[in-house]
Amino acid sequence: MNNIEQTLSIIKPDAVERNLTDEIKKIFTNNNLNIKESKKIHITKDEASEFYKVHQSKPFYNDLCAYLSSGPIVVMILEGQNAVLANRKLMGATNPKEAEEKTIRKLYGISIDKNSVHGSDSTENAKKEIEFFFKN
Ligand code: UDP
Ligand code: MG
Repeated sequence: MNNIEQTLSIIKPDAVERNLTDEIKKIFTNNNLNIKESKKIHITKDEASEFYKVHQSKPFYNDLCAYLSSGPIVVMILEGQNAVLANRKLMGATNPKEAEEKTIRKLYGISIDKNSVHGSDSTENAKKEIEFFFKN
């Protein structure tokens, strides 16, 4: 069935600073996820806290927000067939040690916090996250 979706992807500071942006983008485009929008930005800790507020009760929340705002990131709108799930599969498990071979986190992730990429986990959150970074 035809189910073209959009999802939000972020290349996190650990991967941007290691110049992995183009390699990661190639993984998306080689797997039929088109990059509709892309911008390199450096967000504040307050913005990161807003973006990750679903995690506000978690013990790692403060470090996570500090980390996402610690350096430039690349935010992208990916579009393609079942894009939300397709992106999650390409990313691999949250902990790079548990991620499958050839996934982005297995290839490039350093640790559970420096795991190179973010991806929306549902179509509903994808809409919210795209709106967060690409309102007008
Ligand atoms: N995270 C962390 N420690 C943990 C779990 C998660 O630092 O024990 C970070 C990690 O960078 C992860 C992000 O918090 O990507 C969001 O967590 P989530 O469970 O939503 O994982 P994801 O959807 O990114 O796979
Ligand atoms: Mg998540």
